[in-house]
Amino acid sequence: MIGITSYGAYIPRLRLDRMSIFNAMGWFAPAIMMVAQGERSMCNWDEDAVTMAVAASRDCLNGQDKHKLDALYLASTTLPFADRQNAGILASALNLNDNLITADHTSSQKAATTALITALESVKGGERKNIMVTASDRRETKTAYFYEMWFGDGAASLMVGDTDVIAEYKGSYSLSIDFVDHYRGADKKYDYVWEERWTRDAGYGAIIPQVINGLFDKLGISMDDVDKLVYPCFFKGDHRKIAQGLGATPEKLVDNMHEVCGETGAAHAFMMFISALEQAQPGERILMCGFGQGANALYFEVTDNITNLPQRRGVKGSLENKKSIDNYHKWLKFRDLIQTEMGIRAEAPTQTATSVLWRKNKMILGLVGGKCRECGTPQFPKADICVNPNCGAFYSQDDYEFADVPAQVKTFTGDMLAVSVDPPAIYGMVQFEGGGRLVADFTDCELDDIKVGLPVQMEFKRKGVDKGRGFVNYFWKAVPVPGAAEEMEKLRFDDQVAIVTGGGAGLGKVYALELAKRGAKLVINDLGGARDGTGKGSSAPADKVVEEIKAMGGEAVANYDSVATPEGGENIVKTAVDEFGRVDILINNAGILRDKSFLKMEPDNWKAVMDVHLNGTYHVTRPAMAVMKENGYGRIVMTTSAAGLYGNFGQTNYSAAKMALVGLMNTLKLEGKKYDIKVNTIAPIAASRLTEDVMPPDLFEKAKPEFVAPMVLFLCSKDCQETGTIFNAGMGYFNRAAVYTGQTVQLGDPDHPPTLEQIHENWEKINSLDGAKEIEDANSAIFALISSHSDAQSEAQAAGEEAGSVEAIFDDMAASFKADAAAGVDVVFQFNISGKDGGDWYCVIKDGKCTIDAGTHEKPVCTIKMEEGDFLAMMGGKLPPMQAFTSGKLKIEGDVMKSQLLEKLFKIG
Ligand code: NAD
Repeated sequence: MIGITSYGAYIPRLRLDRMSIFNAMGWFAPAIMMVAQGERSMCNWDEDAVTMAVAASRDCLNGQDKHKLDALYLASTTLPFADRQNAGILASALNLNDNLITADHTSSQKAATTALITALESVKGGERKNIMVTASDRRETKTAYFYEMWFGDGAASLMVGDTDVIAEYKGSYSLSIDFVDHYRGADKKYDYVWEERWTRDAGYGAIIPQVINGLFDKLGISMDDVDKLVYPCFFKGDHRKIAQGLGATPEKLVDNMHEVCGETGAAHAFMMFISALEQAQPGERILMCGFGQGANALYFEVTDNITNLPQRRGVKGSLENKKSIDNYHKWLKFRDLIQTEMGIRAEAPTQTATSVLWRKNKMILGLVGGKCRECGTPQFPKADICVNPNCGAFYSQDDYEFADVPAQVKTFTGDMLAVSVDPPAIYGMVQFEGGGRLVADFTDCELDDIKVGLPVQMEFKRKGVDKGRGFVNYFWKAVPVPGAAEEMEKLRFDDQVAIVTGGGAGLGKVYALELAKRGAKLVINDLGGARDGTGKGSSAPADKVVEEIKAMGGEAVANYDSVATPEGGENIVKTAVDEFGRVDILINNAGILRDKSFLKMEPDNWKAVMDVHLNGTYHVTRPAMAVMKENGYGRIVMTTSAAGLYGNFGQTNYSAAKMALVGLMNTLKLEGKKYDIKVNTIAPIAASRLTEDVMPPDLFEKAKPEFVAPMVLFLCSKDCQETGTIFNAGMGYFNRAAVYTGQTVQLGDPDHPPTLEQIHENWEKINSLDGAKEIEDANSAIFALISSHSDAQSEAQAAGEEAGSVEAIFDDMAASFKADAAAGVDVVFQFNISGKDGGDWYCVIKDGKCTIDAGTHEKPVCTIKMEEGDFLAMMGGKLPPMQAFTSGKLKIEGDVMKSQLLEKLFKIG
């Protein structure tokens, strides 16, 4: 089968808003308003037909072996060189083999389809096997002209071959007619264009139907055999009319792309064809025509292979990556349509020694550097001595292509003094993944877009133009990877070190991969045992995840210890510290199952589950928390389960262990507070080997671990200020689980314990969760229990009335100071009491003495904020401080623990 085997496209990122042309020049040419819809694509100042051709061809080569090409055709009417083969520059930039035939196809808008038929026929004839045909155009027009509106810049590429064909070639038909709707004399910059109506009627309107009908006759087909119809025609109404005349329904006609980029000259038939291929289903039949001094029509049928083609930018991706501009003067400058003063610096000699270009051809046009055979260090440029100081080998370098190696910005500057068509000139150091650096110009970006670490890709661009001698210099420049800047704004974990226990499979593996994608360095702990924890274990699961992380350029190390022993836990943390120097994140995720109903639950099954889940979490968290405390930062995630939170038949061991982890979190959140260590718990629902036989199959399909991972990553991030909280997560659904405590019911009195009957009688009230709330810690829980909320409130009110004024309390406060309880206490309390009679007072306690003053202290240790009524109630002994705190009436800033001294240091009530 012969046909198309791959495609690629490139539309420049810049899009000129057509209204900006009208706004600037409508006074002169009001009629251009008629076609001023949408945007036209526009080359940056350093782009031309050759640079765009390189970009489209690279897209087309994505996933292909470029060395299999045995011919390369470049079709364009705007090639920079009239006598130097432009396809040869393209071949050098792509680093193709020397033993191929290259050719420029030019002088007509149908050059690309002519080249494509030539390629298809020569593969069919068996002479050649794989040919790439790239079409590219950057057409010039005078300003304020319809054609300035209609045209766009762009390039598109099709590969032809006889294996893995994505669109089978069924045949073609050509017409060669010297119809001159426009022409460009050999020494002219602009086209000379004949009257539009004539072009529409005698040109497009006559020749396209003629070529299509000719093809139908030749192949014995009709419009019923065509699913998509491609022919360029920038006259929108006529584009539609021609299809109607041919009996094609509107959905068959492929959009002429006027609104989104304009007509891209010789490349446009390919461009429209590719936009059809991008949406095509196997079996779809596409008819493509090229128009210009006659026409070509080609007929294809899409095959199943289209679904196997690797992801590429194509037309769709090119259109998505855009920057709209409405600065018409910029357009004029980039197209050299106005003359600006470039200053004397721009007069530096620009002559190119073609002998040097020949010697350095691979380096300059192909971005080929060297890689040392001895030590593997890549470097640019290639040199006789290896750049690695520990190697220094002589003549040890093989060719190494840098063009497709991912890179990042290492340093950069924006230079307003350097000569530039689009100041400031942005340049800097680019660091390639795997080694090698290059000082490069940055293009297709603004200075504000560039950041150290920003991923960039190398693109073939114009370096400069020697107008005097008619020579264009090309070299490679760095361009930000589309979307990379937005990616950098995302929550990141760069330079943070994360441990994921049980990270070799299931949820843990996904957490690890996602953390690595966002810059974290990982310790992948996994014992590699069976689902029930039995077996010798295997290093394979952890190793595989480490490999995957390394393959995407991340850093990771494997650890195969069991979390079930204290030594294992210590060693996991040691691995992180030895390898990366710290621990910022710990995800306690390792888990096994040994389900049995309770009466059949023998001690070894009970213990094994406790050992992995509860003891395992203890074994790793303890040494990890010690490191986190040292660093004053940490994020810990516990893994509980719905079985623990709510119960599940046959999982007593698992439920007990999983709920125990909530208890562990509850206390660790308090102990970690001072060191910015946040501890939270996830209750995931995800498809894994643990759930394969418990989840219904349709749920299992949907419950991918990837839907849980974002929540876990958030809990691991600096932005997460939550601590001591439990979240359920699965299939993209999230909610919070918590222990809630109901309102207090007080029964009996100090001298008479309540009776059993009283409990019975009050059961509904005691058992009610009306007005229930979360409680911060055990102390607060005791206060919450012994003080009925509603009673306390009314009593507090009354006490407030008895206690007098706020000012009087501070006047008397020094007198209620218990000096004997203040040994060694050094603290400044600041009180901010709101309300009409409130104010600010501070209290300094040092060397057993207490001084109280009105106003604000410069360095309070603990600031207490209350409303005057609550304050009076508290000081009157009617509102317990802890209750005031838990109910939110007492707010404490600074050292919260010091606030507990208040009750010890002053007689309250
Ligand atoms: P999984 O079996 O796919 O992954 C668990 C990993 O932990 C395995 O790779 C295993 O080798 C490893 N492991 C087991 N014992 C270990 C030990 N002693 N030391 C080190 N590694 C060990 O299971 P999963 O579903 O991804 O479970 C991950 C965690 O989530 C577990 O704690 C599990 O209890 C919990 N969980 C999962 C679900 C769910 O729906 N998948 C629901 C609730 C809770």
